[in-house]
Amino acid sequence: MISVNEAENVIFQQKINLSKEKVSLSSANGRILAENLCADRDFPPFDRVMMDGIALSFENMPEDAILLNIEGIAPAGKPQQVLQNAKNCLEVMTGAMLPSHCDTVIRYEDLSLQNNMALLHIPKSDVKKGQNIHKKGSDRRKGEIIVPSETILSPAEIGIAATIGKTAIEVYTKIRAIVIATGDEIIPIQENPLPHQIRMSNVYTLQAALLQCGVDADIIHLPDNQKIIEESISTFVQNYNLILLSGGVSAGKFDFVPKALENVGMEKLFHQVAQRPGKPFWFGKASNQCLVFALPGNPVSTFLCLIRYVKPWILRQNNHSVNEPRACLAMDFHFKPNLTLFLQVKLKFSDNGQMIAYPIEGNGSGDLANLVEANAFLELPQTNDFFREGESFRVFPFKNIL
Ligand code: AMP
Ligand code: MG
Repeated sequence: MISVNEAENVIFQQKINLSKEKVSLSSANGRILAENLCADRDFPPFDRVMMDGIALSFENMPEDAILLNIEGIAPAGKPQQVLQNAKNCLEVMTGAMLPSHCDTVIRYEDLSLQNNMALLHIPKSDVKKGQNIHKKGSDRRKGEIIVPSETILSPAEIGIAATIGKTAIEVYTKIRAIVIATGDEIIPIQENPLPHQIRMSNVYTLQAALLQCGVDADIIHLPDNQKIIEESISTFVQNYNLILLSGGVSAGKFDFVPKALENVGMEKLFHQVAQRPGKPFWFGKASNQCLVFALPGNPVSTFLCLIRYVKPWILRQNNHSVNEPRACLAMDFHFKPNLTLFLQVKLKFSDNGQMIAYPIEGNGSGDLANLVEANAFLELPQTNDFFREGESFRVFPFKNIL
């Protein structure tokens, strides 16, 4: 049996190679960029007026200037205009090209307009040469890499792609996942269970959690039959990068999953982690890099393993920068067994900005209703059996806590 940290290290060492595909810009949000996005022109592409007002030549503006002749108007979306007489000015709108022979913009708020003239409300000493102008190329230069390959695309990067004219964008293909429920007691959710049966809830939980990480997953159910499990896994390994199983990994007489996985050539990287819940967790990989997370079937165990191991692995695989948040225990807590305890907690923010974890214990790893109440797992390390109020521990939220 290995520790939580050892299990995490083994998992985080695994990387799968994804191929590339082109997607339309409108469907690229959340995908991982597989090309550099470079500036196709300077950012901004011309000296851009930043305020509605007048443009003038600072040097030629008289010290005692009060009234300036207006030669015309330069709206956004029109070619560059030219100031004919350096002592005059042009009206300019935000987004317009700065007219040539102008270097300074005074906003409407600092002047009033009278009969084709601008009456300044401020002395020249309050005007700064170059003010209110977004200089050509001052943000980025043409040809510069603005978004490097491997970046995860968010609305900010989508805006960059649009501004450089990318209608289609090269990204890495998504991880292809399948989530497999095992167990003879499990029935489809649309059926009415007999007294000894239960509906298969785990795979829907796992599918939903994967989707939150940007991974689409198929769902399937297999009986407690070693041969069928072996045949199915042999096929899935060809078609998926990630296989999640739920159930059948413990020490029961009908827990065939570990044996079946090894029989079809999976390399076992570990089996059993010193944790509660989720101790029987099995992890391995196929020769083609397909990863297999075989999780215990109890709903809280399955879910914990996904939140604690699978999700962080996906985020790392997809180059997300990953924080390791901590929260403070709201009360003293005892836990004797020599295992890391993932305590179900409800996180709340204190007035001084701390995250406080209130234990919501529930009735063990079969109590999936308790997950509705809680919103995170607090990781209480194996090395201690007493945890003090106010002490901070790593925390794994599974709901939006903001
Ligand atoms: P196992 O890990 O197969 O020994 O299952 C442990 C417990 O989890 C048993 O009570 C199972 O009935 C339950 N279980 C297993 N798979 C599922 C599932 N897909 N949905 C809900 N409960 C499950
Ligand atoms: Mg089972």
